[in-house]
Amino acid sequence: MPGSFKTEGVVLRSIRFGEADRILHLYTAERGRVNAIAKGSRRPKSRFGGRLEPCFRLDLMLHEGRSDLCTVTGAETVDGYPNLRSDGSAIDAAARGCDAVLRLLDSAEPNRPAYNLLCRYLALLDEGARGDAAEGPGPWALGLAFRLKLALAAGFSPELGACARCGEREGIVSFSGAAGGVVCGSCEAGSFPIGAEAHRFMVAAIGGPIAELPAASESSLRQVERAIGDTLSHHAHVNLRTAA
Ligand SMILES: [Zn+2]
Repeated sequence: MPGSFKTEGVVLRSIRFGEADRILHLYTAERGRVNAIAKGSRRPKSRFGGRLEPCFRLDLMLHEGRSDLCTVTGAETVDGYPNLRSDGSAIDAAARGCDAVLRLLDSAEPNRPAYNLLCRYLALLDEGARGDAAEGPGPWALGLAFRLKLALAAGFSPELGACARCGEREGIVSFSGAAGGVVCGSCEAGSFPIGAEAHRFMVAAIGGPIAELPAASESSLRQVERAIGDTLSHHAHVNLRTAA
């Protein structure tokens, strides 16, 4: 039904279009994935200013017409995450996070946990980039925790509590994307080894606050990355870019 609506949203991708317009791929609080055109937004005196850039969190007024593209009629900044933009590794982690949302959540259904998670993730990267925050997890660990929580919000959380094939709780030794979780020694065909530290990291990342991650070595984080990637490619048919 044509008409205007208000929603908060994060710019996932901003594409130059025509002479002076932009096409925005948005993840919104009220409507999930929305694509919109911002007419004249690349003109120097555009009323939108510089805020239609990736990773900006905006209060939006959108007009829905007959086409698949909404039209942006208003946009105010809720948070531009300014520190993030001056830190190469933080902005890169943020861009990869936005890309993961684009690939994993393509439906126009609202998903509040996913929206809130994206905003929280950007805020944490921004805090980390400010430099005065307490020593927290690095962008790679944070990016992997974000993906695990995003997988949960999208309905593709891996099984971590017991062997995904036989239900055995003891003797977990590896991870199988096809089985969709950790597997025991008897069921390890087609899986790859996963250490206790990587397993703990995944359990904590899915079950706890994203800012309170247990320490994990580089080799553990590599196992976590592979576990997430294999799970999503098998079950969501989505291949994510690497997290860092
Ligand atoms: Zn088993």
